[in-house]
Amino acid sequence: MEFIPNTEPERQYYFMDRLQDMIKEESQKAGRPLTYFIQTFGCQMNAKDSEKLAGVLEEIGYVPVESEEADFVIYNTCTVRENANTRVYGRIGYLGTLKEKNPFMKIALCGCMMQEAHVVEKIKKSYRFVDIVFGTHNIFKLAELIYEKMTSDRKQLIDIWDGTTEIVEDLPSARKFDFKAGVNITYGCDNFCTFCIVPYVRGRERSRKPEDIVKEAASLASQGVVEIMLLGQNVNSYGKGLKEPCSFAQLLEKVCRVEGIKRVRFMTPHPKDFSDDVIEVMKKEPKICPQVHLPLQSGSTALLKRMNRRYTKEQYLTLVEKIRRELPHVSLTTDIIVGFPGETEEDFLDTVDVVKKSGFDSAFTFIYSKRTGTPAAKFSDEVPEDVVKDRFDRLLKVCREEAEKQAEKLTGKTVEVLVEGRDEVNNEMLTGRLSNNLLVHFEGCDNLIGQFINVRLDQCKGFYYIGTAVL
Ligand code: SAM
Ligand code: SF4
Repeated sequence: MEFIPNTEPERQYYFMDRLQDMIKEESQKAGRPLTYFIQTFGCQMNAKDSEKLAGVLEEIGYVPVESEEADFVIYNTCTVRENANTRVYGRIGYLGTLKEKNPFMKIALCGCMMQEAHVVEKIKKSYRFVDIVFGTHNIFKLAELIYEKMTSDRKQLIDIWDGTTEIVEDLPSARKFDFKAGVNITYGCDNFCTFCIVPYVRGRERSRKPEDIVKEAASLASQGVVEIMLLGQNVNSYGKGLKEPCSFAQLLEKVCRVEGIKRVRFMTPHPKDFSDDVIEVMKKEPKICPQVHLPLQSGSTALLKRMNRRYTKEQYLTLVEKIRRELPHVSLTTDIIVGFPGETEEDFLDTVDVVKKSGFDSAFTFIYSKRTGTPAAKFSDEVPEDVVKDRFDRLLKVCREEAEKQAEKLTGKTVEVLVEGRDEVNNEMLTGRLSNNLLVHFEGCDNLIGQFINVRLDQCKGFYYIGTAVL
């Protein structure tokens, strides 16, 4: 019998090798190249995982298409809020009808939603046509799972792990952009905010070794990547559990040394861990973009305690003041939850107060969504729906006003942007990203895509600008 490696990533390369022949054979039977489509729900972490899944599918012979009418469809799911789950269920049914028409079609579901036992039960019962179900901890195993499914007569292959301490690296990846990329620095989360399901579906926090992160950044730079985003649920607690200590600030310095990388961003820092050394590094390293996403969640100290956020309203405001003082050009963005159980009008007004005092450049506002298994799901003092809706609308208005005030400050200035591509709404225009993460649309040729150019910000449209390239 042939030797199958039992170490990773060698094991996965073994299966990819086998699959290349098998997919070629299927493709010959079909009389056309076999195609794949990945639908990503949720955050940047999922987007990054999807690039890894795409890398494996391309390695074994599938070609990308932009539609679910493909031969291999993966839904990489999110479960942070209930509406994300509802959207997925609605669409799995549609995949079933497509599969009836295409004998080559395979369907896989993965990501955070699959880590929930009740979801897997529902798929087993109601969606028998789904071929493969896997979770967040064994995403690297896609090749092996496809091989197993194709060589067995099992109707549905389900492989969900409760957790892992393993970090499997060096597998193929098919990146969405040639010039910018995400780089994972931590996986999982240890914070257990009482509303949040992430620690239960993504597991305990694990940090990658700094040398592996730097190696990946250097390899990306050698492929033409100029901007990287360091990714983690709580990036500034980076380093926990590493044999050789390395703080987040030290990691940032190391990454900035990588030749060819011109912009470094990070997402998401936690306010409780935002130490002075990170601010110092941001001050002295010109490659680090003046952008801080600092999730507030609530402006009420009482509610923050109930959310287990481990900072007060005053501590948050002091941090904002320090960041604004030390990094005057920074763009500050946030996440806010409205209608957390027990939220009073006074609590809500505290949130509005923090928004006004912080002057966020943009804010992602969410209606609280009860997640089974989290401590907050047991809180019985839910806020009535009409009250939540009213507060949500009021908050949105204040956030918009503040964002417009911030964006207007740059109107008329000429700034450096990285040109990302054609504007999806108006194809005549290009879209560029400022170092502070805001977007500008302007006229220009395709050969500017992936380049740094200067653009004058003529008109502020609230969250973005209309500009003119200054060549
Ligand atoms: N780790 C990051 C942090 O500490 O903020 C963000 C992770 S979470 C995927 C992104 C955002 O989703 C959170 O900042 C929070 O505002 C929102 N969120 C998480 N759980 C939620 C829930 N149960 N209901 C509504 N929004 C939620
Ligand atoms: Fe969820 Fe809190 Fe962890 Fe962010 S820090 S992922 S909100 S538990």
